[in-house]
Amino acid sequence: MSTTMTGSKGKTKSANNGAPGAPIVGGKILAEVGLPPDPDNLYTQTVGTMLHAAEVMNLPDYLKLILAQPKNEIMVHFPVKMDNGEFRLVKGYRVQHNNALGPYKGGLRFHPDVHLDDVKSLAFLMTMKCSLVGVPYGGGKGGIKVDPRKHSKAEMERIVRRFTSAIAHNIGPDYDIPAPDVGSNSQHMAWIADTYAFLSEVGGRDASAVITGKPVEFGGSLGREKATGQGVVDTLVEMLPELKLKPEKSTFSVLGFGNVGSWSGRIFQDKGAKMTAVADHTGFIINEKGIDAADLAAHVNAKGGVAGYAKASKCSKEDFYKTKVDVFIPAALEQMIQEPEAEMVNCKVVAEGANAPTTPGGERVLQSRGIEVLPAILCNAGGVTVSYFEWVQNKTFKSWDLATVDRELNKHMVQAAGKTRAARKKYNCDLRTASYIAALERLQHAYEVRGIFP
Ligand code: NAD
Repeated sequence: MSTTMTGSKGKTKSANNGAPGAPIVGGKILAEVGLPPDPDNLYTQTVGTMLHAAEVMNLPDYLKLILAQPKNEIMVHFPVKMDNGEFRLVKGYRVQHNNALGPYKGGLRFHPDVHLDDVKSLAFLMTMKCSLVGVPYGGGKGGIKVDPRKHSKAEMERIVRRFTSAIAHNIGPDYDIPAPDVGSNSQHMAWIADTYAFLSEVGGRDASAVITGKPVEFGGSLGREKATGQGVVDTLVEMLPELKLKPEKSTFSVLGFGNVGSWSGRIFQDKGAKMTAVADHTGFIINEKGIDAADLAAHVNAKGGVAGYAKASKCSKEDFYKTKVDVFIPAALEQMIQEPEAEMVNCKVVAEGANAPTTPGGERVLQSRGIEVLPAILCNAGGVTVSYFEWVQNKTFKSWDLATVDRELNKHMVQAAGKTRAARKKYNCDLRTASYIAALERLQHAYEVRGIFP
């Protein structure tokens, strides 16, 4: 089993993409492109989901092959001087999955366990997400194998600038545009833009379009920080009524209270929903009367996690998952909802804020229990959509006000939800398969008109 950066690390339970012992979905294509038949591997799982959707819609085999592997996998090693004068060799990645619809686009993860398989999976998901949400981008992802919490600001600056110099010839405002992800923030994006401006021939203000998620004072967009959470809530508002749920009357729990989780919580709460349980890497908390999401976000900012929050009770992992809510929002890492977690959750809808939080095995359990899953490529597409708005503002030297950003984001989210619903109706399938079909249809049309050259 390959090492993947997951919250489930160390678990032995199979996250097979078929029932235990069953053949892997898309096995023939995976074998043809040289992928090992490992059902627990995140990349096998994510590509397997696409191959399943491709079968349902009868996508031509040549497109399945193209999409089953990224175009480029870049791995770099670079020395960085630490504050104590010693040198460390740091590893970084940039995977460019597909650019049929436009420049590669996707975040940079700074995490000690980041691994090529994770980055490939996340790059692949970006191709699907950008296609579904109707932005003119392909998919990419990158990362640095580093724990930002263990480095001083000066060390992080040197690590980020050295990484940028190592990949500077592989990114660009019209070629590959990174963004923040787990562990990286707007300050890191500012250092990347600044370093790139010095190293590239683009220069000047144009160079800042090489990256999104920048601080607003340096070419960032209003609304980018909350965008993914905003998109999660836009999706919920769009999809809950047909599941006979009223957003303003819903209760919810959140796994992971970082950027995506805390903004989803704050914005859903502003719609009238009530948050009753939260978990992150520091612990699990519960309060059936409600936990104020803005107040908890302030606590997390000050203390680094939900642990020690005085206005809720500490609880066990089991109590957290078993808390009865209408909506459960996983917003931490990949593969956290496996079969045991899926057996425990006590909700009507799972809204995937994180990328690939539910394993195929976990999803089968959720489906058998009648729990609806709003898939990540739809639900968390708000971040890349507002990243696109940031890039458009950089390219046109304009600044949009927040109302414009929110309104335009909502249009993309509603449209993506509509395309997903239409595919579900046409193919009579689950929402995840439908979202992949809608994404694949746009890619298929692009390949049909572009052809393959030379
Ligand atoms: P973040 O670093 O701000 O937050 C991550 C959260 O996960 C933290 O609260 C952390 O405590 C929690 N966590 C980590 N390990 C955990 C564990 N073992 N158990 C419980 N909680 C754990 O990251 P983020 O930007 O909010 O990203 C979260 C997810 O959303 C990732 O899958 C990311 O790829 C995805 N995503 C992020 C964006 C974005 O704009 N930031 C956009 C789309 C998707």
